[in-house]
Amino acid sequence: MTLSIKELIVEAERCVACGLCLPHCPTYKKTGSEADSPRGRIQLMRAVAQDILPNNARFNAHIDLCLNCRSCETACPNSVNYGALVDTSRALFMQKKSAWLTLAKLFIRHRYLANALIWPIWLAQQCKLSSILKQLSPAAKLLPVLDMPVAWKSLYATTSPKKGAVSLFLGCASSALDSQTLKASIYVLNKLGFDVHIPTQQTCCGSIARQMGDVAESNKLVALNQRSFDPNMPILTVASGCGAGLNDYLADYKIQDISAFLVTCDWTDAPIEPLSERIFVQDPCTLKNVQKSHLAVYALLKKIPNADISALAGNSQCCGGAGAYILTQSEMADSLLNDKLTAIKASKVVILATSNIGCSLHIANGLREQNLVVSVLHPLQIIAKQMGYQAA
Ligand code: SF4
Ligand code: SF4
Repeated sequence: MTLSIKELIVEAERCVACGLCLPHCPTYKKTGSEADSPRGRIQLMRAVAQDILPNNARFNAHIDLCLNCRSCETACPNSVNYGALVDTSRALFMQKKSAWLTLAKLFIRHRYLANALIWPIWLAQQCKLSSILKQLSPAAKLLPVLDMPVAWKSLYATTSPKKGAVSLFLGCASSALDSQTLKASIYVLNKLGFDVHIPTQQTCCGSIARQMGDVAESNKLVALNQRSFDPNMPILTVASGCGAGLNDYLADYKIQDISAFLVTCDWTDAPIEPLSERIFVQDPCTLKNVQKSHLAVYALLKKIPNADISALAGNSQCCGGAGAYILTQSEMADSLLNDKLTAIKASKVVILATSNIGCSLHIANGLREQNLVVSVLHPLQIIAKQMGYQAA
């Protein structure tokens, strides 16, 4: 939600400076600076909005370092809407402008352009030329081994007895970099008797534009999605970052994380093969603190006979994979990632389930760099495989 400047001041004044949010803030834990804490940032945002402090580089640095993980919101006894405060401050005071951002926006808004970019990357990977990609851009180190870009159909009809219909939100990053999760999701939904609609005009959820302070662009993307989806049909997201963004800005639509939807379905006629493995779950901040449906992931995976489902230690702290943050605040992102890798090593994790593409790319990259062999998978990929789905 984006506020007016007057609303920002009113919301910021609701903070009673009790400090209960401080121990929950990852950036405060790392820097120990009040200005990198939720309480400090709220005071800074209010002071800049009231022209008490200048909107200068120091202010920008403290707000930029915020992950928008919204861990502080869940701890706040006064329910201060921190997410709205930081979104508004970025929109009002910190619009980022650069040629590469303009280009990135074009690719994000038009999926066919993103696909056009993915084809040469996929080909380069097929020809074992990934090292050249890494020299061209530091972002390339995050790339997983890609599948051939998919031309999604508008409808995947169920062949099981029909129980309903849903829309699937592709997400710009998931459709480009994680088509296996989307295919696995369609497979499971079809098996359970749901037709899966994929509106062709859908676009990015707008979260990355919002992170960059570009509220006009994010509003355009929200409006495009508004026109694309049927408000009466459940809209399922596989990436919790997208789900959180859509929930905040398309509140009248039935947006739900796919695991939260699936645990409410009838599974009587859907056999699941046992899996005698321990599966650790990493809770993405957007699923836990914004959508508040992280427990559905555990409930879903517990449907797999013999599987032992455990929470990854330190789950309450963000992994640092907060969208463009991985690139713009790489030092803090890497420091938070190291804490995750330490937890993964300590628990000897073999399978890690996570429901957010940003977390998945960031953690998988850290594991690769330390030569650690861990399967980082979306929960839908894990359960689909036990239901007979074979990755193409
Ligand atoms: S959103 Fe996260 S990083 Fe930002 S102030 Fe709140 S707890 Fe700290
Ligand atoms: S917990 Fe809420 S009221 Fe207390 S300092 Fe943090 S934001 Fe302010």
